Amino acid sequence: MADVESRSERLRRLGMGAPITRRDFIDGIAVTAVAAAAPSPVLAAVDPDGPGSAPQDHPGYYPPALTGMRGSHPGSFEAAHALRDGAFPKPAAAAIETGEYYDLIVVGGGISGLAAAYFYRAKAGAAARILILDNHDDFGGHAKRNEFALGGKIQLINGGTLGIDSPRPYSPVAAGLLTALGIDPAALAAHDADPGFYPSLGLGFGIFFDKETFGVDRLVKGKIASSEFLKQAPLSGAARRDIQRLETEPIDYLPGLSSPEKKARLSRISYRDFLLNLVKADPSVIPLYQARTHGEWGVGIDAVSALDVWPFGFPGFQGLKLDPGSAPHMGYTAAGYADGGSYKFHFPDGNASIARLLVRSLVPPAVPGSTAEDVVTARIDYGRLDRPDNPLRIRLGSTTLSVSASGPGDSPAAVEVVYSRMDRAWTARAKHSVLACWNTMIPYLCPQLPERQKAALHYLVKVPLVYTNVALRNWRAFAALGVAAIHCPGSYHSSVRLNPVTDIGSYRSPRSPDVPILVRMVRAPCSPGMSERDQHRMGRGELLTTSFETFEELIRDQLGRMLGTEGFEPARDITAITINRWPHGYAYEYNPLFDPNWPEGEAPHEIGRTRFGPIAIANSDAAAAAYTDAAIDQAHRAVAELLASTL
Ligand SMILES: Cc1cc2nc3c(=O)[nH]c(=O)nc-3n(C[C@H](O)[C@H](O)[C@H](O)COP(=O)(O)OP(=O)(O)OC[C@H]3O[C@@H](n4cnc5c(N)ncnc54)[C@H](O)[C@@H]3O)c2cc1C
Repeated sequence: MADVESRSERLRRLGMGAPITRRDFIDGIAVTAVAAAAPSPVLAAVDPDGPGSAPQDHPGYYPPALTGMRGSHPGSFEAAHALRDGAFPKPAAAAIETGEYYDLIVVGGGISGLAAAYFYRAKAGAAARILILDNHDDFGGHAKRNEFALGGKIQLINGGTLGIDSPRPYSPVAAGLLTALGIDPAALAAHDADPGFYPSLGLGFGIFFDKETFGVDRLVKGKIASSEFLKQAPLSGAARRDIQRLETEPIDYLPGLSSPEKKARLSRISYRDFLLNLVKADPSVIPLYQARTHGEWGVGIDAVSALDVWPFGFPGFQGLKLDPGSAPHMGYTAAGYADGGSYKFHFPDGNASIARLLVRSLVPPAVPGSTAEDVVTARIDYGRLDRPDNPLRIRLGSTTLSVSASGPGDSPAAVEVVYSRMDRAWTARAKHSVLACWNTMIPYLCPQLPERQKAALHYLVKVPLVYTNVALRNWRAFAALGVAAIHCPGSYHSSVRLNPVTDIGSYRSPRSPDVPILVRMVRAPCSPGMSERDQHRMGRGELLTTSFETFEELIRDQLGRMLGTEGFEPARDITAITINRWPHGYAYEYNPLFDPNWPEGEAPHEIGRTRFGPIAIANSDAAAAAYTDAAIDQAHRAVAELLASTL
């Protein structure tokens, strides 16, 4: 009988007990510490009554360097979920008075919330008093920075929002903000990003076929349609034949229809159904393409329309001769989705650098330096973010529980805000509030809102996603296999790629396969067959109930199986893991397969963002668009609504 590996042998082989850098935190306080080589980036216990007693005020507090479960990290969501579940029936009653009065309280310290503070101050004057509350231990929202110390050097990667990149050109408002922050995306892209580096080493794209889905573990390099690829791929003869046809032959699968008619039809069928019913591909083709939409939509091809994938270069449209230009439902241009005239650049820590530049502008002493280049290596002094003498304060680890309009928009204390911090409820007041938090939270914060508006806010179910960042001792196995990016259609994480090369300021990306590197793995937790929003609800639940240990075992197993042929050993070669779990990830963008085509002004995001007296609503949710330019534009609109109503 063949040797059967026992559970304990498997765990040992994968290195589950190995000393990696990993910690789990609650409100910035370590609850477990596992063999970390570096000193703790946050402090141990704090006295909740002492001045400057919050974790962020303590020397050494530096959340970007935390590893383990990040994104919606332990300690960031429990108060919000208790509120949802009715566990804070009257938050204001038991709240401690801070005695603080502001011109503006912003709920949510993501790019939209930070931009709202920026725009408000620009209009109302530098003396405007502003408080930003965020439930996480770091600012930036999805635009979060992961920082690793590897081999004596800092390596950076994004924990969420990756890049300056949108299906549309940045608006004058969003582009103007980038300019004001010193960001020139075109110049930065030309000088600092090196998309040709991995290809120059002969590293390209591969697909990992897993045993559970395809019968055998095999990594195959190259273009799907190439005869070499198809020869090596563990696929049936029928699948090979139909993939070849799909990828290479310019067949019109909708003969007799005009381009607008074809587009209308394609917007109403999923890409899966397009393949099965129009292309008439063998069903064994589907597993190869099923997860290809995960990174962009957070669901598989069963829940994304054929029209939506067309501009992304998915195969099967070569012979349809679709006119360039708008896709009728979504309003994006075909050329647009792939290259909509937007800038394209990403900092080594993604758009966390934009958040850091915003914070530099809002609280200058907290962020040393003066350029978009030097912010990349700047070490933020978190202790300066919430000083009483700052006109603008950023308060972390603070979950807003209630925002109530208690007076007209121009009274000095028109809004009462209750928030939870360090297990206590606190009250602060302001003339105005911008809710730049996730729309789904707002009905719980503001039960005063009209029922129609609350229902609209609830409609948008954010897309759950996981960005897992793994530190490796070296990347010789990638070099030997000749791959820098791997799509894994049947695996737990559906993509794996080496951290792109971006040298900026004094920051240098690794260049030699012999030195440590970060790899990015993406998981979209989906449930094929359901509507997109139902899949997101299921996925959200899954992410919140999956332990770090489960993730870790699956990560180690996947990397070991993909790279093991070239000597990669998970137990030896993985040195740190950070799981950026985003149960509330991308803003929901309407899906022509499941959502009606609302008349202008009647879509849920438009109803949901209606100003309520001194309270205005921002966040990318308010645009139903999961992009940084949308987050900025919505902040600008929200502030303009407030100031137009009072100034
Ligand atoms: C994994 C991932 C990758 C992405 N990649 C890109 C990309 O490459 N390019 C791009 O343009 N966009 C990308 N996005 C979209 C991204 O959401 C936006 O670009 C932008 O960062 C959103 O900013 P925001 O301020 O609107 O929302 P968020 O970043 O979500 O910020 C909202 C903040 O409000 C906080 N909050 C919620 N409720 C409360 C409460 N009750 N009290 C206090 N605080 C609260 C949240 O926790 C969060 O910190 C990505 C998103 C994800 C999840």
